[in-house]
Amino acid sequence: MGQISLKAVEKWFGEVQVIKGVDLDIQDGELIIFVGPSGCGKSTLLRMISGLEETSRGQIVLDGEDVTHKVPSERELSMVFQSYALYPHLSVEDNMGFALKTAGAPKSEISEKVSRAADTLQLNQYLDRRPKDLSGGQRQRVAIGRAIVRKPKGFLFDEPLSNLDASLRVDMRFEIARLHKALESTMVYVTHDQVEAMTLADRIVVLKDGLIMQVGTPRELYESPDNVFVAQFIGSPK
Ligand code: ADP
Ligand code: MG
Repeated sequence: MGQISLKAVEKWFGEVQVIKGVDLDIQDGELIIFVGPSGCGKSTLLRMISGLEETSRGQIVLDGEDVTHKVPSERELSMVFQSYALYPHLSVEDNMGFALKTAGAPKSEISEKVSRAADTLQLNQYLDRRPKDLSGGQRQRVAIGRAIVRKPKGFLFDEPLSNLDASLRVDMRFEIARLHKALESTMVYVTHDQVEAMTLADRIVVLKDGLIMQVGTPRELYESPDNVFVAQFIGSPK
């Protein structure tokens, strides 16, 4: 399960309101993508879902449970950080098993879970390597592997492909789509790249200045944008 509801969610940094009342129901197993221009609040919203950022007002509900005031480790959602957030001094295997080790899991359990995640991600032959000896795409897969081993209810991605070069970005798009199918997990994904959103998303949430402009499938947004902002952002002909 991984049903996430945002109810009248607001974020204030001091006197400045950056999320202005967001209501959204994310279905279990859905790949939902937040898009919008830089500074519109995508990362802040994602960080509130993860618990890394406090929610000023409103509620965040995970599978019917109010998690608004829970810390990240109590939410069973895994944030996938960009690949440069890997530990450079640890092997792929230890990077992937780090969270389990910290949680005190026995060695046998860690190695079994890491090996299963490595299968899914086709990383088996790289388990002994350090991040610096991997390609950008492989590093990104390790970053995803770190999240997978914890068997979360959902995965949260903040522009996971933005530091990869253009051709690798396209490969990794397929990789994310393949993973989403394989894992059947809820994924909340932030990007400022509308092409990435259009090709990957079950549904897209278009944000502007801390407000939702429209929510819909890529096709709905393309064929019937609610307003000029959405039309221009998505590149719709209308
Ligand atoms: P996006 O990810 O869409 O580019 P962010 O969520 O990072 O946007 O930021 C939304 C707004 O909130 C921006 O105006 C940003 O400057 C502001 N902001 C983000 N984090 C903080 C913070 N810790 N303190 C004050 N303002 C912040
Ligand atoms: Mg951001």
